[in-house]
Amino acid sequence: MAIGGSNKGAAFFMLNVGVPDGTSSIKFPYRHGAKKDQNNISSVFIHQLGFELKNTQKTENFYRNEWDHRYNQGKRACVRGSPCMVCLIKNTDYSNYGYVVFHVSSDGYCDLNDGLKIQCLSDSVEEYITLKEIVDAFSDENCPGLKDKTRILIIQACRYNPRNPTDLSDDAGVNVEMVSTPDFFTGQPEKGITQNNPSRIPSDLDPIDIPTNFLIIYSTTSHRFAKRNTVTGSWFEDELKKVVDAFPVDRPMYFLQVLTETASNVAKRESDPGGKKNVPCYEHRLTNSIIFRKC
Ligand SMILES: [Zn+2]
Repeated sequence: MAIGGSNKGAAFFMLNVGVPDGTSSIKFPYRHGAKKDQNNISSVFIHQLGFELKNTQKTENFYRNEWDHRYNQGKRACVRGSPCMVCLIKNTDYSNYGYVVFHVSSDGYCDLNDGLKIQCLSDSVEEYITLKEIVDAFSDENCPGLKDKTRILIIQACRYNPRNPTDLSDDAGVNVEMVSTPDFFTGQPEKGITQNNPSRIPSDLDPIDIPTNFLIIYSTTSHRFAKRNTVTGSWFEDELKKVVDAFPVDRPMYFLQVLTETASNVAKRESDPGGKKNVPCYEHRLTNSIIFRKC
């Protein structure tokens, strides 16, 4: 239970899926299946965990200035009643909430200077916001009302390094020989089947300072593409919804356990065709357990 005793949460959703044949479609190609990501996250957090969506006016296809008005020409401020996301996040009253969840689904990559960058819609040149900007938007400084409250950021985006060959960005997996308990008579481990597991590249490619009370969930590990099915959507959201769907109503839900089970289920998947792998990961500086209940 979070500080203040409230199990309720505020939610902010941002799905950049693209507009087929729109003015943005050259720089931001339509992401088939990605609409499902927000549906899945909405099912989990709004419908099953009782969070309240705060950006009800707009949840899809953000240009960069719709994320932050400082990207307007001349940094023109927001007009009343139509805030950018950063202003909405800043001006929200969090007194009734114990948690915040932010979900973004878009294209992305890792920049050697700016870290993880998340693509916005644009008509002329490609435009991005950084993960650091998102963290800053929910910081104690920008949102004093969030101090001591848990902030969950779910980042559905690729994290490849464009300087690497594509082969490296796609996880071909690694065959792991499954070993069971030692044989009773010989003391030797019994050899079992081999299993194709995701492989992770150790990296400080996109380090970020995670503030206290933040949990950042990445749909993939550093250096890698995140996988999406054109019908069922991105693997992480799809598997998260299945885990939460199956969770009993009357039991406390330790959210980090849910994430572990979700990551395990994603790691078992393989792209077809291609046999490519994907595994989500998370980093945090939590000071409280995250315990939800289904409503
Ligand atoms: Zn604004």
